[in-house]
Amino acid sequence: MEKNISLAQFSNYKTGGAADYFVNAGNLEEIKSALAWAKKNNQKIFVLGGGTNILFPDEGFRGLVIKISNSDFSFDNTSLRAGAGITVSDLISACLEKELTGLEWAGGLPGTLGGAIRGNAGCFGGEIKDIVESVVAINHQGEVLKFNNQDCRFSYRHSLFKEEKLIVAEAVLNLKKDLPREKIAEIAQSRIDYRIKYQPLDWPNCGSVFKNCPVEKVLPQVVEQFKNIIKTDPFPVIPTAALIHEAGLKGHTIGGAQVSTKHPNFIINIGNATSADMGHTYRKLLCIAFDMAVLRAHLDDKFPRFVYHDGVFESLDDRKKEILLTVIHRYADLGIQPVITLIDSDLPAREDPDDSVFDDSEIVLTLHDENEQGRLFKMRAW
Ligand SMILES: Cc1cc2nc3c(=O)[nH]c(=O)nc-3n(C[C@H](O)[C@H](O)[C@H](O)COP(=O)(O)OP(=O)(O)OC[C@H]3O[C@@H](n4cnc5c(N)ncnc54)[C@H](O)[C@@H]3O)c2cc1C
Repeated sequence: MEKNISLAQFSNYKTGGAADYFVNAGNLEEIKSALAWAKKNNQKIFVLGGGTNILFPDEGFRGLVIKISNSDFSFDNTSLRAGAGITVSDLISACLEKELTGLEWAGGLPGTLGGAIRGNAGCFGGEIKDIVESVVAINHQGEVLKFNNQDCRFSYRHSLFKEEKLIVAEAVLNLKKDLPREKIAEIAQSRIDYRIKYQPLDWPNCGSVFKNCPVEKVLPQVVEQFKNIIKTDPFPVIPTAALIHEAGLKGHTIGGAQVSTKHPNFIINIGNATSADMGHTYRKLLCIAFDMAVLRAHLDDKFPRFVYHDGVFESLDDRKKEILLTVIHRYADLGIQPVITLIDSDLPAREDPDDSVFDDSEIVLTLHDENEQGRLFKMRAW
C-alpha cells in the first residue's frame, strides 16, 4: 500500500491530483484484500486499469485506488484465460504467437482487458463482447462472481460491470484458428497504422470523447447531411468527430486542453492542462453537440464519474445549470423559446465515489418554434 501517489502518471491525459492510498492488485486475492482494507479503514475505492479512459480530479482522490495488474494468461486450445490487468496489446501478441484470430480488430486499442470488458470497447466493427466467453468479477463486498457472455449485458460501450460496479478480475476469451499468422499480423498492423494516421497519438489523450451517433436515433435531415460519412461500427453511425468539425470546434483550446485538429473527437493535453481544462472543453463540446440537435449526444463515460464529486464539476446542479444556460442563450439568439424539463432531479444517493450519478440523469428539452411545433430533444447528461 502506497500513500499520496500522483494520479497524473496513471492517466493518459497526464492530469489529476494525488490519491491518498494506492495499491497494485496482481491477483484475485490481492483485489479482495484491498477491498477488505478499504472497508475496514472506511476508505472509498476506485478501480484503475490502464488509465486510457480516465480523467482524475485535480484535487486528487480521497480513498484507495486499486490498480488491477493481474496479467497472467494461459491457452487451452482456442480458449484464452487472462487476468484483467493484461494489456490488449499483449493479448494480441499472445494470440499472434498461437496463430489465433478474434482480437486482431483491436490492433492499437490501448488499455487493459478489464477496462475493455467493462466498457465493451470496440473499433473497426469489432467489440470485445464478440469473443468473451465468461468473466470472473468481484463486487465491492469482496464476493467472487462468474458470468457467461449473456449475463454480461453487453451493449454499445456498456456492460453489467459498468452498471453494477463490479471489478473484472479475469476472463475467458473464445478465439478461432482460421487465418495464417502473417494475415493476422497484417490485420492488426493495419489498425495500428490507421490510428497513427488519423489519431493525435503524439499528445496525451484518452481516445474519442463521445460515442458516435447511431443513425437510427438521428433526425432524417441530419442523416442526409452526413450521409457520405456514415460508417458501420458496430452499427450505422455518424462519426461524432464530423459533427464537432462541422460545429467549427476543431483546434478549440481551453487552457492546456485542445480539441484535436487531427481527430476532433479527441481532446488532447497540449501542455500543462489541468483536469478542469479537459472538463471545460468537454462541456463546451457537449453543449455544441446538443446545439447541433443531433438529438442525443451519446456521451461516453470518458470523464468518469467520481470526477464530479470533488473535482472538475462541482455539483450536478451547477453542471446541468451551465449546460442549460448555454442552450437557453443559444436558442434565445435564434428567437426560440426552449421549455426545459429536468427529470430525475432527485438523484438517488450513492455510497461510492466511483459511482456515476450521471448514468441515470437525463435532461429533456422541448423546443418550440413559432408555430408551437414542439420537438423533444432528450439526452443523457452523462
Ligand atoms: C489513443 C486511444 C484510442 C482509443 N481508441 C478506442 C477505441 O477505438 N475504442 C474504444 O472502445 N476505446 C478506445 N479508447 C479508450 C480506451 O482505450 C478503452 O476504453 C479501454 O478499454 C480502457 O481500458 P483501461 O484499462 O485503460 O481503463 P481505465 O482508463 O483504467 O478505466 C476506465 C474505466 O474502467 C474502469 N475499469 C478499469 N479496469 C477495470 C476492471 N478490471 N474492472 C472494473 N472496472 C474497471 C475504471 O474504473 C474506469 O471507470 C482509446 C483510448 C486512447 C487513448
